[in-house]
Amino acid sequence: MVERLLILGGTAEAAALARAATAAFGDALEVTTSLAGRLPDRPDLPGRLRVGGFGGADGLASFLRAEQIDRLIDATHPFAAVISRHAAEACAQADVPRLVLIRAAWTQQPGDRWIDAGDLGHVAALLPGLARRVFLATGPGGIEAFASVPGVWFLVRVFAPPAEPLPLPDHATIVARPPFTIAGETAMLETHRIEAVVTKNSGGPTEAKLAAARALALPVVMIRRPPAPPGGLVERVEDALAWLARRQ
Ligand code: NAP
Repeated sequence: MVERLLILGGTAEAAALARAATAAFGDALEVTTSLAGRLPDRPDLPGRLRVGGFGGADGLASFLRAEQIDRLIDATHPFAAVISRHAAEACAQADVPRLVLIRAAWTQQPGDRWIDAGDLGHVAALLPGLARRVFLATGPGGIEAFASVPGVWFLVRVFAPPAEPLPLPDHATIVARPPFTIAGETAMLETHRIEAVVTKNSGGPTEAKLAAARALALPVVMIRRPPAPPGGLVERVEDALAWLARRQ
């Protein structure tokens, strides 16, 4: 019997899972990947792609029923807490088995100078006493939290050109996508005379900036993750494949 899998995506892991699941299960599994549609381009993935919100948990539950989805894997970003909450509610409503695939968090290495922060507002309050030139690697979402931070110049890295000017008085923008190298990140931090780095604890492959900050002895304001979604959780694509291989 053909099973239908919905992957909630928007991460490198979700794309890797779509490819690996298609390769492993072939015609026995119909894979649909769902993206929020924040970025203009579309990844080249096997299976079907759908783009845009579902309209809350109820909308997602309706989608699961209408599309006769057998299983859902929530492979969204660790900071995408709303869609993960909706996925938990929708799967409960529609009685669809759900697994969370969430990449491991980064942990401090010898030489790191991390400062723990709860959210962007907390970071904004910390910065004036910490640095005058800050590399902001948190993406455009919520950037208005920094709009009135006094005496700080920001270097903001985004994956796509912002649709509107960023609401920061004193800043420069870099549009770039991973992969990033330690040499490249170090050069960027040095060129812009950065004194502190701000990042979410996303985990995963964009850690070159952390190694660069370590090499330059820069403080890193590390925004801690929201609580993980409830239910079964794995950190690696292989473990998600093993879950798919088990009959429900
Ligand atoms: P969010 O705050 O958790 O979700 C906001 C709304 O966006 C959701 O309620 C849902 O709309 C829609 N949505 C989010 N992910 C979706 C998906 N995969 N498919 C369909 N609709 C989705 O999400 P976010 O933090 O803005 O992240 C949006 C997307 O970007 C996610 O796919 C995430 O994996 C990716 N991403 C996020 C970050 C980050 O730092 N947050 C970083 C890298 C990538 P409805 O309520 O209408 O269904």
